[in-house]
Amino acid sequence: MTMNLFSLDGKVALVTGGSRGIGASIAGALHDAGARVGLLGRDEAALAALARKMDPTASTARYAVCDVRDVAATRAALQQLSEYFGRLDILVNNAGVEELCPSSEVPESLWDRILDTNLKAAFFCAQRASQLMHEGGSIINLCSLTSEVGVPGAAAYGASKSGLLGLTRTLATEWAPRGIRVNGIGPGYFRTALTEAFYADDAWARSMLGKIPLGRFGQLSDLGGAAVFLCSSAASYVTGQVIYVDGGYLASI
Ligand code: NDP
Repeated sequence: MTMNLFSLDGKVALVTGGSRGIGASIAGALHDAGARVGLLGRDEAALAALARKMDPTASTARYAVCDVRDVAATRAALQQLSEYFGRLDILVNNAGVEELCPSSEVPESLWDRILDTNLKAAFFCAQRASQLMHEGGSIINLCSLTSEVGVPGAAAYGASKSGLLGLTRTLATEWAPRGIRVNGIGPGYFRTALTEAFYADDAWARSMLGKIPLGRFGQLSDLGGAAVFLCSSAASYVTGQVIYVDGGYLASI
């Protein structure tokens, strides 16, 4: 009975940036919980390999190639995948980029690349998904510790992730009457292609580790439970919230 609360049988989930890292891991967790999953991203080879690994018959896992900064192409990709599966219940706005730069030197191109990918694309994906969710649904936005705290050199990234927090709360209240819940997951420190450069610096890694109460960096498998919970009927009364999966970091500062 309790486990049924977390079942995603019959649901269809689309995950942006589903080719690797956190997006691939969350997509796998949703698929394991019973959802049919569509992956979106730019790297066709990686998307195809992952979709094939999840389901070689392509009946429960499929992909579409798009750059989420291209709003029209991404709207078309979301529609194509939801038509293939016959419905849409879940959107995970995961595609994201990060690049640190002193604020006094941030060029307009960097600001636009980060804001367009992390925030603008998330909004327009949510907008299109909401039109395709005919029986309510669940949207998850990948927030960040920078949704809550300042990090030197992360003006554009922090603005995008704080913006996502505001977007999560706004859409949650606006779309609640339509049965669409909107929540966030805020990962703490996870070693992925996005953050690899930080971990290459031993001094940074040692000092950061000392600040995480649970005493370790996150593993990709730490995020699946939060994602499945937020998309399932176990969270049917949860909207406008962000679950920080951070080993206790935010609680300790
Ligand atoms: P990765 O770099 O490993 O993965 C990012 C994903 O986003 C890739 O699948 C990439 O695919 C996709 N992506 C990037 N730009 C675009 C684009 N323009 N169009 C389509 N897809 C795009 O990063 P993570 O897995 O670490 O990050 C995933 C999310 O989690 C991000 O939103 C990030 O901000 C957030 N996050 C990560 C943390 C961490 O510690 N790792 C901490 C807090 C938040 P491709 O480039 O092939 O298109």
